[in-house]
Amino acid sequence: MKALTFQGIKQIEYSEIADPIILHDTDAIVQIQLAGLCGSDLHVYRGHECGLDHGTAMGHEFIGEIVAIGKGVKQFKKGDRIISPFSTNCGQCYYCQIGLTCRCVHSHLYGWVAEGQGLHGGQAEFIRVPFADGTLVPLKENLSDEVALFLGDILSTGYFCADQAQVKNGGIYAVLGCGPVGLMASLSAIKLGAERVYAIDCIPERLKMAEQFGAIPINYKTVSPIEKIKAATEGRGADAVLEAVGSDITSRMAIDIVRPGGRVSAVGVHNSQQFPFSPVEAYDKNLTYSIGRCPARHYMEKLMDEVPTWEDDISAIISHRLALKEGSHAYQIFDQKLDHCLKVIFDLT
Ligand code: NAD
Ligand code: ZN
Repeated sequence: MKALTFQGIKQIEYSEIADPIILHDTDAIVQIQLAGLCGSDLHVYRGHECGLDHGTAMGHEFIGEIVAIGKGVKQFKKGDRIISPFSTNCGQCYYCQIGLTCRCVHSHLYGWVAEGQGLHGGQAEFIRVPFADGTLVPLKENLSDEVALFLGDILSTGYFCADQAQVKNGGIYAVLGCGPVGLMASLSAIKLGAERVYAIDCIPERLKMAEQFGAIPINYKTVSPIEKIKAATEGRGADAVLEAVGSDITSRMAIDIVRPGGRVSAVGVHNSQQFPFSPVEAYDKNLTYSIGRCPARHYMEKLMDEVPTWEDDISAIISHRLALKEGSHAYQIFDQKLDHCLKVIFDLT
């Protein structure tokens, strides 16, 4: 089959790799129809996350149709259309039972093969899904393919970010980053009743998209977000900060923007070994800090009936719909934010 494979830092190749096969009774093989390119793929692409084998199929956002199942798969059959979260989960263990599906004891990230172990990703024609019954969700007719694709990652992650921030009616929030994840966090905060959402980035078209959703854009290169938000809240700061970048600069900015007694909800993937603020600062702010991977499988079910009405906003972020063979170019423009690239999806139909 064809796949976008990792061949080293900033090297993505459209290449031929072996078709996936059923390895365990609980596996399914899915023929991919739509796949996404995510900010998380960039950590590997840029060499900030290391250890991936050359030849690994990239990507973890996909929807498609089941073409084969193992003997132990009970909930699905050949021909079913499905959505997958970006990591697999068994559906049985302690963490699956409490809704923290991203910490399933059998969890694997798609698109991560190291020293021959792990799972190939979804920027490919086919994919093997372990624990298909626990991982997959049927793609119902009420959902468009694009919303279904985003439910598996960026939409669930953005909503999770707002949920962890305990967004409430009437509150004032700041969202750091207006990439696909930050935009979904802004949209979720607004849908959850936020009175004001300040959306912070420096890329004009991304800020414009946030404004279209109802947020107040702040270009941090021209205006100080801290000063602006403090001035708008009698000097207090935001009730919560939703961090959707994953850097020391934004972690620091979050602490400076949040009010005493407020929350920071961080979903940006962080690669630092230390927080850029001290326990003293956290103590003096009575800070609550939530951080981590989104349990997308849990949020997919929770959001499935609600998000079809958000369709227009959600689909508006797709800037490029490309063939898989254009993958190398897609990584380049998404990485460097060229050609007004905001979200790339690959159409394999
Ligand atoms: P992206 O690269 O498209 O977006 C990041 C945005 O942050 C860009 O628009 C960039 O201009 C902006 N930015 C950079 N520095 C900034 C600063 N100092 N202040 C404000 N904005 C700044 O990526 P994305 O797809 O939106 O993903 C965002 C992050 O979310 C990534 O780290 C990704 O790995 C992570 N992520 C986490 C989860 C999870 O489960 N926690 C899931 C999906 C993605
Ligand atoms: Zn992702």
